[in-house]
Amino acid sequence: MLEIRYELVKEKKAKPDWDNLGFGKHFTDHMFIMDYDEGQGWHDARIVPYQNLSLDPACMVFHYAQEMFEGLKAYRTPNGEIQLFRPDKNIERMNRTNERLCIPKLDKQDVIDALRAFVKVEEDWVPVKDGTSLYIRPFIIATDVQLGVHPSKSYKFMIITCPVGAYYAEGIKPVKIFVEREYVRAVKGGTGYAKVGGNYACSLIGQEKAEKMGYSQVLWLDGIEHKYIDEVGAMNVFFVIDGKVITPALEEGNILPGVTRMSSIQLLRDMGYTVEERKLSLAEVEEAYAEGKLDEAFGTGTAAVVSPMGLLDTGDRKMIINNNEIGPVAQKLYDTLTAIQWGKAEDKFGWTLKV
Ligand SMILES: *Cc1c(COP(=O)(O)O)cnc(C)c1O
Repeated sequence: MLEIRYELVKEKKAKPDWDNLGFGKHFTDHMFIMDYDEGQGWHDARIVPYQNLSLDPACMVFHYAQEMFEGLKAYRTPNGEIQLFRPDKNIERMNRTNERLCIPKLDKQDVIDALRAFVKVEEDWVPVKDGTSLYIRPFIIATDVQLGVHPSKSYKFMIITCPVGAYYAEGIKPVKIFVEREYVRAVKGGTGYAKVGGNYACSLIGQEKAEKMGYSQVLWLDGIEHKYIDEVGAMNVFFVIDGKVITPALEEGNILPGVTRMSSIQLLRDMGYTVEERKLSLAEVEEAYAEGKLDEAFGTGTAAVVSPMGLLDTGDRKMIINNNEIGPVAQKLYDTLTAIQWGKAEDKFGWTLKV
């Protein structure tokens, strides 16, 4: 059991308006911190009042972006308990990201202990209303004070949380997606598979361009040929073509291996769908569309769970998918997955962990 020191607030913050939580706006009373120092390893785990950090401006994270993050949620079940969804998968991914960024790995059980202990402290922040949850953001920053380009020898691992609203306040609405052909997010050999802030920093320009044109997100193509579909913004993508479900394969290392993606593949197969993980070119999607075989397209991720694409603009062609409505595959997947996450259906795969 991870030893955690508790320094709890004397007075809790006022709770936000549970009907207007938004995303990532209201942070809870406390934060979790653990330090790493060379020779000592990870040490001094503590839960302390949520507060500003005091850091030397020469800390490595500010200059060379040696930083990683994760994202998962705690869900309130109908009988008032709180559960996490596949936190082991987030921690495994966290350690793959750490390896890529030369950040020391964390012990899986320590992180599970930290997550449970921290959510327990903040349990009155886990909202109750339909579709709401407590978003959990673990992250690590490099804190060595020096400007030489080397992996840091000291780090801070922190966890902050915020209650978040139902992603779809008025039912699931399909989104407009712009295919980005100029900028790329990731290349083979790069950090596409790692959950790092740097991937987002370099994707902002494409995102901003798309937003200015009235689109909500960007569909990224592979960084070498600009031909194959990678993913959308902060979501993995699925296309239903002629009844078959196709999602880009992870082998090249330029796609973030989503926990929602992994769970969706398993659930869809369990429902009897054929799911192919393979290279999928934009040309193949356009051809399917022209032949009337592009049944559905949707993104998956922890925040929105399943997000249908209503319009996909390739620059040459605007494809309206499934009449700009959520399709049966996306709907069934959304219903099944959310029922497990919020504890409304039997968890036959053993994916949830009570806090
Ligand atoms: C986090 C993330 C996803 C989704 O992963 P989940 O584990 O399903 O939340 C997809 N793409 C990118 C780029 C991400 O950062």
